[in-house]
Amino acid sequence: QKYVNVIGAGLAGSEAAWQLAKRGINVNLYEMRPVKQTPAHHTDKFAELVCSNSLRGNALTNAVGVLKEEMRRLDSVIIESADLCAVPAGGALAVDRHEFAARVTDTVKNHPNVTVFNEEVTSIPEGPTIIATGPLTSEGLSESLKSLTGEDYLYFYDAAAPILEKDSIDLNKVYLKSRYDKGEAAYLNCPMTEEEFNRFYEALISAETVPLKEFEKEIYFEGCMPIEVMASRGKKTMLFGPMKPVGLEDPRTGKRPYAVVQLRQDDAAGTLYNIVGFQTHLKWGAQKEVLQLIPGLENVEIVRYGVMHRNTFINSPKVLEPTYQFKNRQDLFFAGQMTGVEGYVESAASGLVAGINAARVINGEEPLVFPAETAIGSMARYITSTNAKNFQPMNANFGLFPELPVRIKGKKERYEQHAERALGTIQNFVKNT
Ligand code: FAD
Repeated sequence: QKYVNVIGAGLAGSEAAWQLAKRGINVNLYEMRPVKQTPAHHTDKFAELVCSNSLRGNALTNAVGVLKEEMRRLDSVIIESADLCAVPAGGALAVDRHEFAARVTDTVKNHPNVTVFNEEVTSIPEGPTIIATGPLTSEGLSESLKSLTGEDYLYFYDAAAPILEKDSIDLNKVYLKSRYDKGEAAYLNCPMTEEEFNRFYEALISAETVPLKEFEKEIYFEGCMPIEVMASRGKKTMLFGPMKPVGLEDPRTGKRPYAVVQLRQDDAAGTLYNIVGFQTHLKWGAQKEVLQLIPGLENVEIVRYGVMHRNTFINSPKVLEPTYQFKNRQDLFFAGQMTGVEGYVESAASGLVAGINAARVINGEEPLVFPAETAIGSMARYITSTNAKNFQPMNANFGLFPELPVRIKGKKERYEQHAERALGTIQNFVKNT
């Protein structure tokens, strides 16, 4: 009898189980709640939304909107349930969280191919398995994952600096240079005068932050200081830290700026840049306002905001295939936030791919690599091919898509073209699934 173990019935695990079950594969679905809760879940329902009730933008001018549309075409239980439980939310797809979770639970649980076990899994089972235990994976299983992946390839928190779309940086204001001209010129540098620095500093220390949850306070003890905390230690502290200008003389003037913010290329395609040393837990609105005070970033598009939160995830560029298979064990899959995708919809999408591919492997078929032109494929490509050294989780965004064949200046028009290409591509691709 063909079966797959799915561990975790969150956003990713529920979707994976559904995709398997509807392909005629038996699923042993392990969920530890309500026997054991995580620090953020409150119910015994599958796909519980632990924070916001919004699955973010629904329009096709938004990458996460395109992602949802691709998932609709692949019969996603998460998106179908969300559509059926939607509440008014402007351009976003927000849901009644109780109705939504109840619907996902009933649909998945009542499928005749699904058997649910309410228990904590602490070791990785033999046989075809999908691990989708999420950002708050239990300690027992985390230990086993550490042994599987190697200590250096499993992380317990996410302290990420904001990631920006290169197209939105004012390249006339910044300059390309590495400190002391060591190696090739690799960084985009945003120079600041003393006056600009003072304005930025005042905004930074008075901006609102997200309070850390009790279970997240340990992050501070890991020696990873948010930029606003560094700033609060004294006005000059950042000038000796991430904003230090030495060795970064502006080639256009030959002079050393008062302060410099450095941007480092984030993806192989060079469409995204992160801000060096700027991990932060400023609220998103405040984050944008403060960052837009940096010369060159006045109109910047932030594709992923800086965050500091508890998050268990593997170093996917090292250990995962774009099929969501573990590199050293072809019948072991990972899905959800664990893989370094970030967000409810992104987690569900990765569960969808892992479910489809686990079914294919069991049936002796080649697992699928979704085309990078699709939102689903662009994320799989990013998490498995980006630089393993600074790997941080990522939301769906158009910066992850391959460039369009022709350059389109207007942002809306560019996004529309990306969406059209993605949906055309997925339409053909769905036939194989
Ligand atoms: P989950 O949905 O967490 O599912 C994992 C499941 O595995 C859980 O049901 C858990 O009980 C179970 N489990 C864990 N360990 C075991 C084990 N050993 N054995 C059996 N079962 C186990 N994303 C957004 O888009 N919007 C938000 O507002 C948002 N807020 C967040 C707030 C917090 C506090 C956190 C931690 C994350 C947040 N995220 C948010 C990020 C992410 O999108 C969600 O965490 C999402 O639920 C991840 O989906 P998942 O399927 O990977 O994990």
